[in-house]
Amino acid sequence: MSYKNFPMVPRVVFGRGSFNQLNEILSPKRLNPEAPFIFLVDDVFKNNNWLTSRIPLSYDDKVIFVSSAEEPKTSQVDELVEHIILTSKKRPSGIIGIGGGTLLDLAKAVSIMLTNDGETKDYQGWDLVKNPAIYHVGIPTISGTGAEVSRTTVLTGPTKKLGINSDYTPFDQVVLDSELVKGVPVDQWFYTGMDCFIHCVESLNGTYLNAFSESYGSLAYQLCKEIFIEDGLNEIESQEKLMMASWHGGMSIAYSQVGVAHAMSYGLSYLLGIKHGIGNCIVFDQLEEFYPEDVALFKTMKEKHKIELPQGICANLTDEEFDTMINVALGLEPLWENALGNHWKKTITPKKLKELYQKM
Ligand code: NAD
Ligand code: ZN
Repeated sequence: MSYKNFPMVPRVVFGRGSFNQLNEILSPKRLNPEAPFIFLVDDVFKNNNWLTSRIPLSYDDKVIFVSSAEEPKTSQVDELVEHIILTSKKRPSGIIGIGGGTLLDLAKAVSIMLTNDGETKDYQGWDLVKNPAIYHVGIPTISGTGAEVSRTTVLTGPTKKLGINSDYTPFDQVVLDSELVKGVPVDQWFYTGMDCFIHCVESLNGTYLNAFSESYGSLAYQLCKEIFIEDGLNEIESQEKLMMASWHGGMSIAYSQVGVAHAMSYGLSYLLGIKHGIGNCIVFDQLEEFYPEDVALFKTMKEKHKIELPQGICANLTDEEFDTMINVALGLEPLWENALGNHWKKTITPKKLKELYQKM
């Protein structure tokens, strides 16, 4: 048995208003005046002077606004890298991602592809990255995915949705400023927050569970209950706790794995472009058979926050389309093995998955 030697984010700032320290954090990392910092920022902030005016720009530093309407694609990473190379005098001093999981993943991937040849799609998988990435910083503006702490950047490529998993993927620096999440709409807060809840459920109920994952996972699970079920937190406490739940949920799956909801949600995302947070919710809502108590809890949370999930999204799919989705889901073997053990293939058949998808 060989144990993973897991890289962690070496530096993190936590605190309301800590975004104001960005200049102080970045300045010592500037390689020279011709090597810019590139800020990849969710375009939801485009006309938000409150945030953009505080991005510390000097010399040739640039802000690139990116839409998160769709999940990140390998081709999009290639285009961003080409654009950055063509418009910068020198290789950048650093990439700073400001946004949700979409922008954080793009920042990670761009920082890797600036120092590695070829196309992004060639690096989807485990430990395929050859050269260290350039300095990269993650600043979440919505909480739940754990992308700020994880060792992967999830990308949709021409043939698969798969992360670039590597020791060079984690951020060099993360800034956790809960004030940045204040504009998140309630439904999106719920979907991305539930990603964290589901990370915990799948990690805690998986066969890969160990004391490392259990300690982080049970803590994040409790925080989710405080935030989404119990009353008594004020808005700031709730924002700060969800930020930490996201972090711990990410740490929990780092040393275990996700499960049924994630495997099936990847299928929905690949075929129908359904985004990760809401896709997980749509799937998890139908998984009583696998996670009975937690699905009941999920339904309570959904009602409490008056969240209406889309219905019938698989109603008009052809057999071929079902097969595509089922193949994507079944391809994620470690997730099934974690969820159900070595003999998962006995219970999880294409027919079984089709029945489940048909309920969504
Ligand atoms: P997201 O980044 O896609 O953003 C969701 C929505 O929230 C967008 O419309 C965005 O504009 C908006 N938003 C973000 N911050 C806001 C703010 N402060 N105010 C108002 N609106 C705001 O959502 P997400 O759920 O954080 O990320 C999903 C992505 O993360 C998926 O692509 C998924 O694959 C990825 N992911 C990655 C990992 C990882 O470990 N790398 C883990 C889980 C998910
Ligand atoms: Zn997730």
